[in-house]
Amino acid sequence: MNPSPDPTPSGKRKRKGGQSDSNVSLYAKHVKIYPKRVKGTFRTLRWSVLGVLLGLYYMIPWARWDRGLGAPDQAVLVDMPGRRLYFFWIEIWPQEIYYLSGLLILGAIGLFLVTALAGRVWCGFTCPQTVWTDLFLLVERLIEGDRNKRIKMDEGKLTVEKAVRKIVKHAAWIVISVLTGGAWIWYFNDAPTVTRELFTGEVSSTVYSFVALFTATTYLLAGWAREQLCIYMCPWPRFQGAMFDEDSLIVTYESWRGEPRGAAKKGDSFENRGHCVDCELCRHVCPTGVDIRDGQQMGCIGCALCIDACNEVMDKMALPRGLITYDSISNQINREAGKPARFNLFRPRILIYAVILLIVSGIMVFDFSTRKTVEINVQRDRSPLFVTLSDGSVRNGYTFKILNMVRQERSFILTARGLPGAKINAIGYTSDWIDEVTLPVKADTVGTFRLFIKVPKDRLEERSSNVKFHLLEVDKGLTIEQESVFYGPEK
Ligand code: SF4
Ligand code: SF4
Repeated sequence: MNPSPDPTPSGKRKRKGGQSDSNVSLYAKHVKIYPKRVKGTFRTLRWSVLGVLLGLYYMIPWARWDRGLGAPDQAVLVDMPGRRLYFFWIEIWPQEIYYLSGLLILGAIGLFLVTALAGRVWCGFTCPQTVWTDLFLLVERLIEGDRNKRIKMDEGKLTVEKAVRKIVKHAAWIVISVLTGGAWIWYFNDAPTVTRELFTGEVSSTVYSFVALFTATTYLLAGWAREQLCIYMCPWPRFQGAMFDEDSLIVTYESWRGEPRGAAKKGDSFENRGHCVDCELCRHVCPTGVDIRDGQQMGCIGCALCIDACNEVMDKMALPRGLITYDSISNQINREAGKPARFNLFRPRILIYAVILLIVSGIMVFDFSTRKTVEINVQRDRSPLFVTLSDGSVRNGYTFKILNMVRQERSFILTARGLPGAKINAIGYTSDWIDEVTLPVKADTVGTFRLFIKVPKDRLEERSSNVKFHLLEVDKGLTIEQESVFYGPEK
């Protein structure tokens, strides 16, 4: 795989006469890419994906989900002050953040699987950098014209028309960038409220800072950096090669059919020559400036626009489509040899990725469907370790917390197990020493209780004994336990 695309608009690498490779600067001056407009199946597919993804990005925060009184009704919300993540009916508490790690692992393995199957479809169709760059290019094309017009304008003198077009283009880019940054904060705040407060100046400076940050990054990355982010900054192309094999589908040029290339016009004979008419349309439509005829390159994001461009040329020349096509290397070898093409889906790496994906998904689904809606935490008083009461029994103090993760009040019966003769006193809930105590916990909160346990001194066999706090939910019979320690005097 070649490390980078051809950096020059003419397609020729610049080398001074007689200069050896070792004297060539490692710094490659940026050469602006002017992607040409193209029509075709993959272009339509990319517009559709772009529309769906942008639609989802802007619309999701406005979806509502009724969670009851006092709870946010935004379907998807990262509630930082409330330390909660809401996704429709799912509510993730801070201690369950491992679900997000699981999702990231699933996403990574899914990406490995898709890459092994169909190459860089993530980069070419769904990556945010691709989507926003495509949108910015569309705006540029609408305001400044198609490739040739833009090149001519950039190379020409500054005129009023050029200045106006540039100003309008950048203004449009900034509007999109502000909308992008503005939409991002909807995911962290109630969307209607924060939108209104943004205009009335009621939101915090942090919110304005994030809008500014995402506005600036969108403008710089999609407007200016564009393909440079994919080629020089993104780590993904660096190791995605490890996921490909000879059966992965990639955008490829049928050099065995296209070469030797040469200019031709409709009606010319293609006897003893290749089908590539060297029109360079495939390179001109490429958003990263790659000439796919030079073979696989890191700069190729797999957007497939060169397929559309070349198919258009093949149609005009009355030649078979697919000189540039989605195909595997092994199929290309077969086709060149006149053998039938064959798609080999069940390869070891595909099966391994699929099995890992299934296992991780299975673990996550099982863990999520059996997740507990109550958690307890016991902290023993460290000072004093114990108190000897007037009746001769030994008392220990505890701070006991019950996390109620559902949106209704619940009652729990607490008993202390493992200590013979143990009695409980919960401050505010019992007036005397008793065997078990009922503790109410309000909806969606942590109930904190001060507890004392006393045990007759002669029933303590060791200086330190284990005590098991056993909690039984009154209505549903759910039980949960946590161990702690009970200290007494030296024996
Ligand atoms: S070479 Fe083709 S598939 Fe690759 S980035 Fe360029 S246009 Fe897209
Ligand atoms: S678009 Fe097709 S015919 Fe034209 S240069 Fe590219 S590969 Fe050759």
